[in-house]
Amino acid sequence: MMRVTPFSVSGTDYYVISHQNITERKIAEEDVRSRANIDGLTQIPNRRSFDEFLTEEWRRCLRLKQPICLVIIDLDFFKILNDTYGHQAGDECLVKMGKMLKAFINRPSDICARYGGEEFALVLGNTALKQAQQLSNKLLDKITALNIANKHSPTESYLTASIGLAEMIPNAQTSKNELINQADKMLYKAKDNGRNRIES
Ligand code: GH3
Ligand code: MG
Ligand code: MG
Repeated sequence: MMRVTPFSVSGTDYYVISHQNITERKIAEEDVRSRANIDGLTQIPNRRSFDEFLTEEWRRCLRLKQPICLVIIDLDFFKILNDTYGHQAGDECLVKMGKMLKAFINRPSDICARYGGEEFALVLGNTALKQAQQLSNKLLDKITALNIANKHSPTESYLTASIGLAEMIPNAQTSKNELINQADKMLYKAKDNGRNRIES
C-alpha cells in the first residue's frame, strides 16, 4: 500500500511517499472470506454461498431467457449409517461426497454445495431438464461407485441417495424460491417412491 502526504515549506511543495507491505493482512482477510463461504467439514461451498450463487444465476438466466435447474440430493438412511458405524464414519462419508461433487461440477454456471446436514445441492445454470436428468443419473451411479457400506439400510446394503430435480425458465412473475420448493417436493416424492432414485 502506498500513501502520499503533501506538505509545503516556505512556498515549496513536498510529498512524503510511504510504502507498507500489507500482504499478511490481505491473506488473513481472504482466509476469513473463504471460511465464511466454505463448509468446514466437506470443504465445498456452504448454504450461504449456495444462496448467493442461486440468486446470481437466477438473474443471469432471467436476462438470457435460459432454463436453470436445481438438484437436491439427500443421502438415504444416513441416520442408520451413523448409528451403525459411528458419527465419525458418517462425517467421512460426507467428506467423500463433497470431494466427488467438487470433481463432478466443472462449468462456471454450476455450483455444488452442502445444503444441510446430509443434503447437498447443485445449481445448473443455462441447463435444460433433460441434461440435468442425465447428470443426476450419472450422479447416482457415482454415489453407488463410492461403495460406502450401510448394511442396516432397509433398501440396499450400501449408501444411496434420493434426488429431487426441478427446472424453470425464470421470468418476472417467478422467483428462485419456487425452484427450491419444486425440487424439495420432488425430493419427498423420490423418498416416497422407494429412494435411490430421481424425481423431476
Ligand atoms: P432418509 O432416507 O429419509 O433421508 O433418512 P435419513 O436417516 O437420512 O434422514 P434423517 O433426517 O432421519 O436423518 C439425517 C441424519 O443425518 C441424522 C443426522 O444425525 C445425520 N447428520 C446430519 N449432519 C451430519 C453430520 O455433519 N455428520 C454426521 N455424521 N451425521 C450427520
Ligand atoms: Mg435430510
Ligand atoms: Mg437423508
